[in-house]
Amino acid sequence: MAIPIPSRQLFIDGNWKEPILKKRIPIVNPTTEEIIGDIPAATAEDVEVAVEAARRALARNKGKDWALASGAVRAKYLRAIAAKIKERKSELAKLETIDCGKPLNEAEGDMEDVAGCFEYYADLAEGLDAKQNAPVSLPMKAFKSYVIKEPIGVVGLIIPWNYPLLMAAWKVAPALAAGCAAILKPSELASVTCLELAEVCREVDLPAGVLNILTGLGPEAGASLASHPHVDKIAFTGSTMTGVKIMTAAAKMVKPVSLELGGKSPIVVFEDVDIDKAVEWTLYGCFYTNGQICSATSRLIVHESIAAEFLDRLVKWSENIKISDPLEEGCKLGPIVSRGQYEKVLKFISTAKSEGATILYGGARPEHLKKGFFVEPTIITDVKTSMQIWREEVFGPVLSVKTFTTEDEAIELANDTHYGLGAAVISKDLERCDRLSKVLQAGTVWINCSQPCFFQAAFGGIKWSGFGRELGEWGLENYLSVKQVTHYVSDEPW
Ligand code: NAD
Repeated sequence: MAIPIPSRQLFIDGNWKEPILKKRIPIVNPTTEEIIGDIPAATAEDVEVAVEAARRALARNKGKDWALASGAVRAKYLRAIAAKIKERKSELAKLETIDCGKPLNEAEGDMEDVAGCFEYYADLAEGLDAKQNAPVSLPMKAFKSYVIKEPIGVVGLIIPWNYPLLMAAWKVAPALAAGCAAILKPSELASVTCLELAEVCREVDLPAGVLNILTGLGPEAGASLASHPHVDKIAFTGSTMTGVKIMTAAAKMVKPVSLELGGKSPIVVFEDVDIDKAVEWTLYGCFYTNGQICSATSRLIVHESIAAEFLDRLVKWSENIKISDPLEEGCKLGPIVSRGQYEKVLKFISTAKSEGATILYGGARPEHLKKGFFVEPTIITDVKTSMQIWREEVFGPVLSVKTFTTEDEAIELANDTHYGLGAAVISKDLERCDRLSKVLQAGTVWINCSQPCFFQAAFGGIKWSGFGRELGEWGLENYLSVKQVTHYVSDEPW
């Protein structure tokens, strides 16, 4: 059952604050197409206030500020946040589903992961204390040197709408664990649960200014954050086009950035597979979260000898995907997040048709749903590598298919993309899988699966999919800078 959307303000310096220009953005439920509330729209003026608050959090009381607190102290807050998220899991999952359209059981899984992510980085924050002052071995006895890992400072965290609270957790948890103060800018298309994170921070008495949450439009709130001279780093997840803008703005101030961008990931299926298992991973890899996953394996490269049988079963499985209100029990595919995205996905499908591809399955709004931004799971064959559908990220439930005969051909097709986020290989021949894992151009290679993601393992891309790694220890390093301290310890004159 739907629940009301809480009415919130911006979260700055530990308090709710009305945007200075009093602007708000309507929230549209993608299932009903109705306006169900609104979110505050921050502008450059609010960014200014939030940046000042974050800087004060790092320098409020000498010795007591967030950056100098021990990792153990910061860990307590992270664990308290995780506990509150767990308490509110079911409500937060419903809000996420209503706001962005993902099936409720997926949103519930996300909330568990959000809490898990805060707990994981609490452990890493504690571990950081033990790693301070690590000695560096020098060739001269007259000197002693050690390394301090310090928080980078005030960080801007800009995130997309497909995993709103989980993407926030992937950035906020390590940034706070490292001792940074942060300003989170969620997507204007799905900000509701991020504003609830603000409420959670209030409830656990997170020191004021440590986390500020500014909802608002990308070109206003996001761009002001990216170009602000007192923001020390930008961690961004979103489209490659926006990533380029952020990197350009940051370059003018030599501001470090980490970029998690788009993808066009392949899944390569060899002739020796258990077809049903491979079909299941293919569907999961392409249609989970309504196909709106950056690493979605949206290009199927299947061995010629099993292609007909494989596609036949793929279509049969697709027919059984329940498309409905995402709050409904058993829903497997909800609506696309917004009208704009929905129209974009349909345009990709019509362009594929006009370029000569065949829509083997789906391709339209399901007939039984009269309202909402729903698109059927769509399978496209007769695809040429020059076609838009093969080359560009759709970010919807659309799979393009090509066949191959030799391993070399499969590799060439898999790497035939500007992107490099994920790649999956399905085969019983583990030596072959190992060979492919070395030559596929991607930040993650999945063997006999697609999409599993663990806090402990690095996640990120190469090529147009960006650089820098989130999660694991790499995620923490994103928010740390390394300082060398060198002593002259000899009594002899130098
Ligand atoms: P987007 O680039 O449109 O927006 C992402 C964020 O950037 C939003 O918060 C938006 O408001 C903000 N933004 C927009 N213009 C801006 C500007 N000029 N300056 C600063 N900020 C600005 O992306 P989206 O549509 O929200 O998300 C979908 C994209 O995100 C896809 O390309 C997807 O692949 C990518 N994504 C990548 C990962 C990953 O880990 N690599 C994860 C999820 C999504």
